[in-house]
Amino acid sequence: MGQKFLKLIDKENISLSSDIYRFERSDGSAFEFVGGQYVILNLGNDADGKSIKRAYSILSSDSKADSFQICVKRLGTGKASSILPKLELGAELEYSGPWGKFVGDPTWPTPGFSLILATDTGITSLAGLLLSKKFSDRLDSTITVWFKTKEEDFLSEKDLRNLLSGISNFPNIFQIPSISDPDRISAVLEILKSILGDCTVPENAFLSGDGNILREVRSELIRLGTLESRIGMEAFFNTQRNPSPVASFGV
Ligand SMILES: Cc1cc2nc3c(=O)[nH]c(=O)nc-3n(C[C@H](O)[C@H](O)[C@H](O)COP(=O)(O)OP(=O)(O)OC[C@H]3O[C@@H](n4cnc5c(N)ncnc54)[C@H](O)[C@@H]3O)c2cc1C
Repeated sequence: MGQKFLKLIDKENISLSSDIYRFERSDGSAFEFVGGQYVILNLGNDADGKSIKRAYSILSSDSKADSFQICVKRLGTGKASSILPKLELGAELEYSGPWGKFVGDPTWPTPGFSLILATDTGITSLAGLLLSKKFSDRLDSTITVWFKTKEEDFLSEKDLRNLLSGISNFPNIFQIPSISDPDRISAVLEILKSILGDCTVPENAFLSGDGNILREVRSELIRLGTLESRIGMEAFFNTQRNPSPVASFGV
């Protein structure tokens, strides 16, 4: 298949650590996707000649196909996240996608209660799902949770409210220990336990963000009775299992 290109048409620095970018297809054709999906951007080669291809979840609603937005965290030493803020409007990038078979599956979510859970930068795919056509009539039976380390990290609550204006179901936001803190996973599992409480076991779940947390949350959901086939998961970082101790609900 031939190469596909996107043109940068808008960018906004929204905090010390994040920028929102808007792209359209360079050939002017529509960019069709399903909320929660992501694109892979090709940001050129590094000093060793290795290509810098990175995935970014689409933040904007899938009801708008003329352009779309992503939000990228500046990671200091990160390769792609250092190149993106320097891009000029009109710059063109090769891309592939949209990707994300799980959210793209028209049979998901099945009827019943859904849980959408994000940590850190995973809020982008949570927002994409909340704004999606497929969740528009499902919001009353969906609970959304965002775990982040500090209020000012990545997106502030105010920025998120702007992005999700018109959506009745605003995420429950909880602050959790930093990424390197050994108590991070247990903190999330405790909060999750209190949120789910005695309510129905989620029929559907989508988890995005820190892979170390998501793997444990997925195990707990399966233990509670959610079918594994109805749990989608996208690890944005900590994609490989690391050897830190496993926490659990302890029930
Ligand atoms: C499906 C998918 C969707 C994604 N969507 C987004 C998105 O919407 N917004 C976004 O900013 N990123 C997103 N990412 C992460 C993104 O692909 C890059 O990994 C990230 O931008 C770092 O790339 P880099 O080249 O700047 O850093 P690199 O040079 O690759 O290295 C940076 C290091 O930081 C780690 N890292 C990556 N992300 C984080 C983070 N959030 N917090 C702490 N450490 C991190 C990496 O694991 C790596 O060890 C997504 C990843 C996946 C797999």
